[in-house]
Amino acid sequence: METHLQDRDRVGVQDAVLLEDYQSEEVFIDNLHKRFKEHLIYTYIGQVLISVNPYKQLDIYGPKDVKAYHNKHFFEVPPHVFSITDTAFRSLKNENREQCILISGESGSGKTEASKKVLQYIAEVTDRRGDVEKVKDKLLQSNPVLEAFGNAKTNRNDNSSRFGKYMDIQFNYEGNPSGGNILNYLLEKSRIISQVPGERNFHVFYQLLLGAEDQELARLNLKRDLDSYYYLSNGSKGNGIDDKKGYEAVRNALTIIEFNKQEQDEMFQITAAILHLGNVGFSEEEGIAQIVKPELIETISELLGCNAEDLKNALTNRTIETIRDVVTTPLSRELAIYARDALAKAVYDRLFSWLVYRLNSSLKIKDMRSYNVMGILDIYGFEIFDKNSFEQLCINFCNEKLQQLFIELTLKSEQEEYLKEGIEWQNIEYFDNKVICDLIEEKHKGLIAFMDEECLRPGDSTDMTMLTKLDKNLSYHNHFVSHKKADVKLQKIMGRDEFRLIHYAGAVTYNVKGFLEKNNDLLFRDLRETMSKSSNNIIQSVFLKEEQKSKKRPETAITQFKNSLNNLMHILMDKEPSYIRCIKPNDEKKSGVFDEQLVGHQVTYLGLMENLRVRRAGFAYRREYSLFLERYKSLSSQTWPHYHGSAKEGVQILVCALGYEGDEYKMGKTKIFIKYPKTLFYTEDAFQAK
Ligand code: ADP
Ligand code: MG
Repeated sequence: METHLQDRDRVGVQDAVLLEDYQSEEVFIDNLHKRFKEHLIYTYIGQVLISVNPYKQLDIYGPKDVKAYHNKHFFEVPPHVFSITDTAFRSLKNENREQCILISGESGSGKTEASKKVLQYIAEVTDRRGDVEKVKDKLLQSNPVLEAFGNAKTNRNDNSSRFGKYMDIQFNYEGNPSGGNILNYLLEKSRIISQVPGERNFHVFYQLLLGAEDQELARLNLKRDLDSYYYLSNGSKGNGIDDKKGYEAVRNALTIIEFNKQEQDEMFQITAAILHLGNVGFSEEEGIAQIVKPELIETISELLGCNAEDLKNALTNRTIETIRDVVTTPLSRELAIYARDALAKAVYDRLFSWLVYRLNSSLKIKDMRSYNVMGILDIYGFEIFDKNSFEQLCINFCNEKLQQLFIELTLKSEQEEYLKEGIEWQNIEYFDNKVICDLIEEKHKGLIAFMDEECLRPGDSTDMTMLTKLDKNLSYHNHFVSHKKADVKLQKIMGRDEFRLIHYAGAVTYNVKGFLEKNNDLLFRDLRETMSKSSNNIIQSVFLKEEQKSKKRPETAITQFKNSLNNLMHILMDKEPSYIRCIKPNDEKKSGVFDEQLVGHQVTYLGLMENLRVRRAGFAYRREYSLFLERYKSLSSQTWPHYHGSAKEGVQILVCALGYEGDEYKMGKTKIFIKYPKTLFYTEDAFQAK
């Protein structure tokens, strides 16, 4: 129990609630730093796990570690992702409570690695019999597939997830994994058409070109040469990523997940088609786009299973239906390029959604007898860049919603514990970010509503008319700052094409350039129709579904995102949450470097100080009577070596013997609550001195 209370000067405290000065960010960060130096990357705030990315393999995830954490109370063992998982898993099994593990942090902080450790732990502590093993294999193997298509090298992370993911592991009545389900959020599809210097396109393109056999490349009409493909040309190349191995891993995983040959063939045909599509160039004659290499269209059409003439026409024309008639107009070169890129993004985005759909059908539970689920959420953290765009707005909105959930769930559980223990609940002051969520999503008068109104207005709407609408309607709000409303100092750094939101984690300035286009997410109708007639089963299924839906007014990108987020909140709401907050110690992906300033920003974005304050507003420490007595019984001759009364009485005797003052502690029904860390420390020191 409390393994690290002894050596706290050197290794810090393993739970930040035990910090004397819990209001000081400096003290908090210093504690993380001390532990980091000792390779102790995990620290708690109560039941929230903080994880600092070590950027090197630590020997703490092996079979002996699994064993050390299996069926242990989380305070009996040092902080660890296994411990959080074990606690959640036991609650699921023994108390039948559905669980969710919410992982947050900025890019490169270790979220995805943490989610894999959760899955690894579950796989290792459950049965190995036939069916169970098969389900576990599929769950584990879904990762390499999703990562090939959804991850990319960025400047922050060599294996950065470019989509949000929520995965349910379903358990049967014996507590063994029996199925799973994945939800995906907002794939960064703009990466398909261009990448910033130093970054790459999605892994799968490199894997295919460098890993596939000659025969396969010939089938797909591809050359083993990254430079031949325009969509890869401005990205960086290999950089020590073993794409060949990656390709083998993906193919292997696809087989384990039972994708048949045809499905695999079609997936890679689509992947190849996108590479070819990027190479389609246009010239312009009298304002009308001409395809430079028509033979390329033949290749693409073959790979996508669509009609080449249709595709040529769809890439260079646009049909618009008005009330009176249907008009087809030829596209300019610029618009044809736009159409081509839109097609590439749309096809890839839908391929990814299909992948998730297909994974889910393979993970679908067969044994329907009572099951419980444990959800794992691995989703982008709060983002503040130098330039923030539509994507950051979506991501930060998502984080506002998760913060709302955190407030509701943690304050609620804190309150419930007090109630259960019969201890008077004192109101805790905290910032409720509901006002910001409302500002963004409220029906008819939130930011999304006004944005959509302008995006869907036919005619001459632009990014700037949208901004004007936002300024006009939202400037009254405390958390919205328009350029006009900004003070002189702020006006200097804010552009006229920007607005600012005061998020719970800080102020973010958004540039509206591209908002309209990204939100409308338009794929010209001719292209949609061509795709929906494809003979490639994947393409046809995803586009046909859409054709049927698009009879109604299409939903904007942000409204779709809002709806899927609200759906996620419902899923999470009635589960017991565990939190993992990931921190990136430096920007260089280096081991052993702890940049206190960088960590400081993340502590702010993650709301950790507020978290700690709320947790400490009540009692710093609480423990079941029996456990407390067991450890400290040697401190009174009346309880040593054996105490025969109830544990609560025993603790009462101890507390008197130790001279606790009345305000230092409270006796609940099953636990002692200690207000200040110093009380616990002198108890522990007395124990050590014995
Ligand atoms: P995120 O999902 O938050 O963007 P990742 O989980 O992909 O970040 O982690 C980025 C990289 O950091 C990983 O590829 C790995 O090299 C390293 N890393 C993260 N967590 C750990 C860990 N617990 N131990 C060792 N290395 C880690
Ligand atoms: Mg990730």
